[in-house]
Amino acid sequence: MKYSLQPLPYGDDALEPIISRDTVRVHYGKHELGYINKLNDMIAGTEYETMSLEDIIRSSSGSLFNNAAQVWNHQFYFLTFTPHTRRHPVGALATAIERHWETFETFCEVFMQSGMSLFGSGWVWLCSDDEGHLGIRALSNAGNPLTEGLIPLLTFDVWEHAYYIDYRNRRDAHLHNLWQLVDWSVVESRYNKVIE
Ligand code: MN
Repeated sequence: MKYSLQPLPYGDDALEPIISRDTVRVHYGKHELGYINKLNDMIAGTEYETMSLEDIIRSSSGSLFNNAAQVWNHQFYFLTFTPHTRRHPVGALATAIERHWETFETFCEVFMQSGMSLFGSGWVWLCSDDEGHLGIRALSNAGNPLTEGLIPLLTFDVWEHAYYIDYRNRRDAHLHNLWQLVDWSVVESRYNKVIE
């Protein structure tokens, strides 16, 4: 099996109460694992078996794209959190955010509004072009900015399975609280790789 669950850099109860242990166990341990298992089954014995996950995402469609992108998106999502956040970015990323949205708080508002305006399931993304210009994308279902030639920096999952156990139907409360878990050092290092 080519793909497996990525280890998490925190315990399954470390993100409580923002993301409960129940949600980590179901979202990471069941939903993400389900996409991984389906992807492994779909690529076995095909040309995709030797391809990078990013190349599968850029070159496939339909159910293979959906499962490959959901694996990538969930790995990226769960590796963006820490119980020890410093609450806001610094350095080049902070400067770029302020250049585009004037303040970090305005960026957070626009990001949350994008997530709220997405009908049905999907992901809201902070991404960069290859020159370091930032943008926000709200993409349906398994959507990933790699298909638009953009570099993902941060994502919040707005599928109901990400928040229904802890927040019921309150997507807004979930998005609002997730800022308390963002590991900005991870997001900054993704951005610094783009502009270096
Ligand atoms: Mn999810």
